[in-house]
Amino acid sequence: MMRTKLTMMGTKLTMMGTKLTMMGTKLTMIQANLTKLKPVFGRLKKAFMDLVYPANIYCICCGEPIFDHELYSLCKSCTEKIAWVNQKGCTKCGKMLQDWYESEICIDCSYVKHHFKQGFCCVQYGELERQLIHQLKYHGKGYMGRKLAEIMQDRIGFENLDIHYIIPVPIHKLKLRERGYNQASLIGKNLAAAMNWTYSDSLLVRTKDTEPMNQLRPRERRRNMQNAFALGKKAKELVKDKSILIVDDIFTTGSTVDACAEVLLAAGAKEIYVFTFAAGVNEK
Ligand SMILES: [Zn+2]
Ligand SMILES: [Zn+2]
Repeated sequence: MMRTKLTMMGTKLTMMGTKLTMMGTKLTMIQANLTKLKPVFGRLKKAFMDLVYPANIYCICCGEPIFDHELYSLCKSCTEKIAWVNQKGCTKCGKMLQDWYESEICIDCSYVKHHFKQGFCCVQYGELERQLIHQLKYHGKGYMGRKLAEIMQDRIGFENLDIHYIIPVPIHKLKLRERGYNQASLIGKNLAAAMNWTYSDSLLVRTKDTEPMNQLRPRERRRNMQNAFALGKKAKELVKDKSILIVDDIFTTGSTVDACAEVLLAAGAKEIYVFTFAAGVNEK
């Protein structure tokens, strides 16, 4: 009797041993999976933090704490300091015009014939506005795309545009690899969703990795943009007779969006509009 009990206990112990070994194996597997999941969780955590953290607690411009009812996640001081384009603008490119300035179009537009039909913007480009765009462009702050698109939605809502496609100014694949995202796409996707327009980033492709434009003079900018864009595969049937809105972060002389518009119009697009968050100052 005693011996039978002992044998049974021995068997039980062996089974427990096997179970423990199995549990050990499972734990090792879970551990291995967790290591594999780490980067995914890291990204999820970042996306989650992007979602709830800075945009609703801190001013997207100066980083000071804000109340959550504050419009566009901007503090009162920044809202007051930002040069909103809410008065007279160039009827062609949308750039803000000075009060005393008599013409309906800015200096640049009086010299250059643009390919696009009309341009719109939200702010005049200055130091504060540069900071905002910089956050979006160089610091990987993707939620900024959503925030800027919120502002842009309120601006473009006034225009009653009939838009078939909203497209970003494409960046070259080398730059895309370097930065990880196209800032114009971030704005474009969010704006398209807010306006219920169709977003596409395959109608145009960037075929040339162009030099940075900020040091170039207007004529050099145009040269730099020559043959920089081409029609995307299968885009010809899509763009025919369509109204297309090109989105970018900043408009300076318009040579980039003009180069885009030229390709789309040559492919049969009906009309091209341009919408940027910021536009340069009308130089006297
Ligand atoms: Zn602020
Ligand atoms: Zn203009």
